[in-house]
Amino acid sequence: MKGKNKTDYKGRVEQMSDYIKKLRACIRWYMELEDGYLAEQEKLQGAMDAENIRHSELEAQLSNAIEELKAANLDLTRRCEFLEESLNREKSEKLIAVESYEKEKQERESAENSRDVLTVDLERVTHDAKRFSEQLKMVQDTNKRLQEYNSSLQQYNSNLQADASKSGETISKLQKEKSAMMETMATLRECNNSMSNQLESSRASQQEAIRVKEELRKEVECLRAELKQVRDDRDHSVAQVNNLSIELADCKEQIGKYSKECISMSTKVSALEETCSTQKEQIQTFQKQLTVATEKLKLADVTAIEAMTGYEEQKEKIKYLEERLSHAESQIVEGDELRKKLHNTILELKGNIRVFCRVRPLLRFDGDSNGPEGASISFPTSVESAGRAIDLMNQGQKLSFSYDKVFDHNASQEDVFVEISQLVQSALDGYKVCIFAYGQTGSGKTYTMMGRPGVNQKGLIPRSLEQIFKTSQSLESQGWEYSMQASMLEIYNETIRDLLAPGRSSNFDMTPSKQYTIKHDSHGNTTVSDLTIIDVFGIADVTHLLEKASQSRSVGKTQMNEQSSRSHFVFTLKISGSNETTGQQVQGVLNLIDLAGSERLAKSGSTGDRLKETQSINKSLSALSDVIFAIAKGDDHVPFRNSKLTYLLQPCLGGDSKTLMFVNISPEASSVGETICSLRFASRVNACEIGIPRRQTQARSFDSRLSYG
Ligand code: ADP
Ligand code: MG
Repeated sequence: MKGKNKTDYKGRVEQMSDYIKKLRACIRWYMELEDGYLAEQEKLQGAMDAENIRHSELEAQLSNAIEELKAANLDLTRRCEFLEESLNREKSEKLIAVESYEKEKQERESAENSRDVLTVDLERVTHDAKRFSEQLKMVQDTNKRLQEYNSSLQQYNSNLQADASKSGETISKLQKEKSAMMETMATLRECNNSMSNQLESSRASQQEAIRVKEELRKEVECLRAELKQVRDDRDHSVAQVNNLSIELADCKEQIGKYSKECISMSTKVSALEETCSTQKEQIQTFQKQLTVATEKLKLADVTAIEAMTGYEEQKEKIKYLEERLSHAESQIVEGDELRKKLHNTILELKGNIRVFCRVRPLLRFDGDSNGPEGASISFPTSVESAGRAIDLMNQGQKLSFSYDKVFDHNASQEDVFVEISQLVQSALDGYKVCIFAYGQTGSGKTYTMMGRPGVNQKGLIPRSLEQIFKTSQSLESQGWEYSMQASMLEIYNETIRDLLAPGRSSNFDMTPSKQYTIKHDSHGNTTVSDLTIIDVFGIADVTHLLEKASQSRSVGKTQMNEQSSRSHFVFTLKISGSNETTGQQVQGVLNLIDLAGSERLAKSGSTGDRLKETQSINKSLSALSDVIFAIAKGDDHVPFRNSKLTYLLQPCLGGDSKTLMFVNISPEASSVGETICSLRFASRVNACEIGIPRRQTQARSFDSRLSYG
């Protein structure tokens, strides 16, 4: 205990109490610790007890096991003794068995010896048996010979019977003899049998048989004598027979004479019959020939008829085949048309920008009798590329291009329109349609779009409008009602000009006071502020408007063409249709655009204003291609705002609309450079996929007066 001051009791007391507190806490901690230890000790004691119990159990188990083992041991020793005993028994048995085996062996040997003796005896016996059998054979042979003799005797007997057919008495006598002989033979046979049984007795019987044979021989001699007498009788009878036969010969002679006469008669008859039969045969052959001939005639008739019917059939077949051929030809034509249509559909489904190429004819100017030199342009005619490809020779090198359609210089305005009429039609169905004409100045863009006054010279714009009005009228019967608004503008040096503004045609106003700002709403509808929009109801309205517009259009002069258009011309027709009966609504837009000349700067040879114009045109055209390529690549940013033209057409470019580009080509050799540029650009555009066109139906807010498609 340390204190600063020994008198500071209070401090010390506090210090002490603190200390005591600490000590108490210490004691408490120790007590807790002790408790813990005690608990642990108890636990351990419990564990030890359990271990002890287990121990004693194990000991008891062990002693049990030892007892069992001892018992097993005892059992085993007992079994061992028993086994030894049985082994001894087996041994003694074995000894006995060995002894008996020895005995058996000796017996066997003695048996073998006796067997040898027996074998010798057997041989002897077999030898005797052989000898006996030989003797038996000899006896049997003798017997056989006797039998043979017997049979010869029988034969002889039968001979005698035949000879003595007339003398029955002799025969009966002989029969008696024969039966006696048969009896003797039976006895002989018996003797034979007994002979075979007993050799000695058989020999005796043999001798007796010989004796009997001698007797028989004697009897036979007697019989022969009798036979001789019988023969004499027969000879006498034969003599009588001879007499009779002489008489018979006489008779026969007479018969012969008659028969000769008869034969001569019959020969005559047969000769007559022969002639008769030959004549009959001849008649038959003639008849046969006749029947064959008639059959042949019949056959010929039948074949002639068959040939006639076959000829008729062939004729009909030919007629039928000709009909089928013409039908097939018409089907081919139809199929070709269908193929074209399907091709268009495929392209639409692919979402490509379609590209048509048109080559204008060489133009002959007054006073120029030769006309300009044409570039070597050719159109492949192979099945797959006919009407779809164009070849161009440039400095000895052939360049090949193919597009969705290629129109050569002979194609009429009608031909061209037929190909795009479907596209125009789809504006009525609610699609946005965009048709551009691209190409250098003088290549025929305006001619293609607008056309020229004159028979069948109308361009795509008037023809499209005619078709639209005609179709919309025919759809009226199905409950459709269409309203249309037209507008026309041009973009010159990036400025919009209203081609339908009142009083515009006379006053060429290069600095318009009006703003013409372009705006798009969320439904893809475009408005241009201050732009004149005119409701049109028929083709007459539109013709008037087009005339007005072409008068207003900016035309300047370059070295290229007297009337070259230096601005983009945009004709827009907004179509809105509704069907009262079905409740359907469609909004389509048709944009027909005559672009400014695409020629490059160097060629136009411009300066000043013209240079500015050309730069601006080039800029907006390159902006157009930039937009198309960006859409095709699927870029996030499409530079629509880079030019007035692309911004104006924003909703009509890309996937939402059906886009078609005409690339117009000048055929002059001097234009080859520009032509190649145009064709290459068109090829690139043709390869672009810009998406699948969409129909616009049922827009929520559709103010026809103000909006501009
Ligand atoms: P662009 O508009 O491309 O400058 P134009 O359409 O003015 O060219 O055509 C130039 C000239 O060629 C015009 O006189 C036009 O009538 C004529 N022309 C163009 N294409 C054809 C054609 N397919 N058939 C006959 N003449 C044509
Ligand atoms: Mg033109």
